Amino acid sequence: MQEEVQKRTEINELGEFALIQLLTSEFVKQQPSTLKGIGDDAAVIDAANACTVVSTDLLIEGIHFDLMYTPLKHLGYKSIVVNLSDIYAMNAIPTQVTVSIAVSNRFSVEAIEELYEGIRRACDFYKVDLVGGDTTSSPKGLVISVTAIGRQVKEKIVYRDGAKPGDQIFVTGEIGGAYLGLQILEREKQIFLEDSKVKIDLENQKYVVERFLKPEASRISVFQFAKSEIIPTSMIDLSDGLSSDLLHICTQSKCGAVIFEENVPINTEAQLLAIKFNLDPITCALNGGEDYELLFTANEADSEKLRFLPGFYHIGEIAEVSQGVKLRSSSGKFHPISAQGWKHF
Ligand code: ADP
Ligand code: MG
Repeated sequence: MQEEVQKRTEINELGEFALIQLLTSEFVKQQPSTLKGIGDDAAVIDAANACTVVSTDLLIEGIHFDLMYTPLKHLGYKSIVVNLSDIYAMNAIPTQVTVSIAVSNRFSVEAIEELYEGIRRACDFYKVDLVGGDTTSSPKGLVISVTAIGRQVKEKIVYRDGAKPGDQIFVTGEIGGAYLGLQILEREKQIFLEDSKVKIDLENQKYVVERFLKPEASRISVFQFAKSEIIPTSMIDLSDGLSSDLLHICTQSKCGAVIFEENVPINTEAQLLAIKFNLDPITCALNGGEDYELLFTANEADSEKLRFLPGFYHIGEIAEVSQGVKLRSSSGKFHPISAQGWKHF
């Protein structure tokens, strides 16, 4: 669980302007398209000849994150990553972000600096510029809103509605891990609440816990598409779970799909944990969320190329709408796939 922060400076002592200055001073500009970042009434971005792709997310303490087991640095990192993941899911390259926060007086300046340390690390790693935001107080808890901006030429933008029967379905990495990480953290939280002296040991669950607390967006896949001249026919990032997200593609593309159980990549540690929790690993992969891998479909020619590229898993095929959306189990039986992904409401 979280360590106590030693030094505590009240946000009131510092004031809004000094706080913004403190939080944003370490950020280094990385994108030539950022003409004006923080410091004016609005940021200015050079759009050149590409389309601008925009995505935004709102994260509320107690609904989207739990600070009992989420270090603020990880939260900052993840809040950027999940937005960039949406930009990559359009086959676009993220270039800028804005971050708005509402903070209650429960949080010290040092705590918010931790959050921004994570935000800065993500910006550095993904080479995006923090170009603005807003800072305000909240009566209770922490609220974070991130907007990510990216670019891509019109012809290469990939939507959810382009899948066609016969297209092959791929994912860019192992899935189900983040869901199991969350199960572990929730379980440890309950144990801790019952007896705060119990020592929590997450050593053997590093992989799944990290998948949940510090996910990465699948940018390498998007670079790979560009390099290999692949344009997926449809794409979505896996935030709600394979079932839900595949159903979004199928509904919007007006098609059915078959997923081959034996091809769905599940990490070994995650499989063992699922069994320990009395859960079926494939159920975790289908219904668990927050893996932030990309789920996409490719036509025949691109599917041929993808076979020879590392980091892409062929997990199924798009079918006619009349065939529905199904899982073909390892024993050859077909099961309908329904949306059981994460719901915040
Ligand atoms: P305004 O009064 O015009 O809203 P602010 O004083 O709120 O301006 O913000 C000053 C500058 O700092 C702006 O460029 C704004 O985008 C940026 N900014 C404010 N809050 C944040 C934040 N939490 N993170 C990053 N940039 C911020
Ligand atoms: Mg403002």
